[in-house]
Amino acid sequence: MKVAVLPGDGIGPEIMPAATRALTEVAPDLELVEAPFGAAAIRGSGTPLPDETLDVCKEARAVLKGPIGDPEFDAADVRPEQGVFLLRSELGVYANLRPSRNGTTDLLIVRELLGGIYYGERGTRDDGTVFDTCEYRPDQVERVARRAFELARRRSSRLTSIDKANVLETSRMWRKVVRGLAVDYPDVELQDMLVDNAAMQLARAPDQFDVLVADNMFGDILSDLAAAVTGGLGLAPSASLGDGAGGLFEPVHGSAPDISGLGRANPSALLRSTAMMLDLAFDRHDEARALEDAVDEAIASTPTADIGGSASTAEFADAVMDALAR
Ligand code: NAD
Repeated sequence: MKVAVLPGDGIGPEIMPAATRALTEVAPDLELVEAPFGAAAIRGSGTPLPDETLDVCKEARAVLKGPIGDPEFDAADVRPEQGVFLLRSELGVYANLRPSRNGTTDLLIVRELLGGIYYGERGTRDDGTVFDTCEYRPDQVERVARRAFELARRRSSRLTSIDKANVLETSRMWRKVVRGLAVDYPDVELQDMLVDNAAMQLARAPDQFDVLVADNMFGDILSDLAAAVTGGLGLAPSASLGDGAGGLFEPVHGSAPDISGLGRANPSALLRSTAMMLDLAFDRHDEARALEDAVDEAIASTPTADIGGSASTAEFADAVMDALAR
């Protein structure tokens, strides 16, 4: 039972110890194998996802990943972000689950992760025009939509499918495929919503939603918005799943270069991703619950600066360990 641990860049190596300490406490039998990824790997071996790191990830049941990204490489040909896209596609994780909750809101965004404009053809024409293309095959839409219907069924059976069908061909196909699947899930109430309206509704009244399903780019943007209205990026976890067991678990946030090295980062998003890993990849529901509760307790008792407190990353991690020990 191996977990590939990729600390990543910026605040990644600062928050990862909180997760590995917690894992050692609640699931001591899991073998944690650390490997370089992102800018750290580019510096070491010239590539963000070295073959050895990919092997470690493929051999493990689950990958626990910190954020990557470094301003030093923003304009470089080889960038840390390329490693993330490659890792996701190598692992075949097409459904990205991004839960957001606070006192009144409890929603789950299911984002398609392996298609759309982030993977389409791109380039520059002779006249200087630059283009990115958005493409989807119906089966790519179907597999992520089925996952969303199934997840909705286990929650309050309401699913909102996000698109821009009034403008985009890919969205018209998306809507048709999702509606076609609804006959297989008669117990799930499906509604379609245009992405611009969804952004407004999420900002205005996020508690109206249960499960949302969206393509790669719309899901990326809306889930950051959902995170912001439910407490901020420092709290938002994610799980990326494919057809096999296991998956990739990582916080929604990036490497936060503005606070990196200060010991002030909030490890909650990574810890909640760790709880999702225990739950979804290892079926350890009680341990996942215990970790989630411990994080909630630490958020209340020992908040970091991004959520209105002054605790350091290490103090927050200590509070989580104290709560786990109780
Ligand atoms: P970011 O998420 O790193 O930071 C946005 C803001 O949120 C910053 O003010 C930051 O200080 C704050 N923040 C984020 N996480 C926090 C935490 N855990 N605790 C406290 N505050 C936190 O986004 P950005 O600045 O747009 O991107 C920085 C780098 O991260 C870029 O190189 C980007 O490509 C990369 N990135 C990587 C991933 C990933 O690894 N999957 C995701 C998003 C961005």
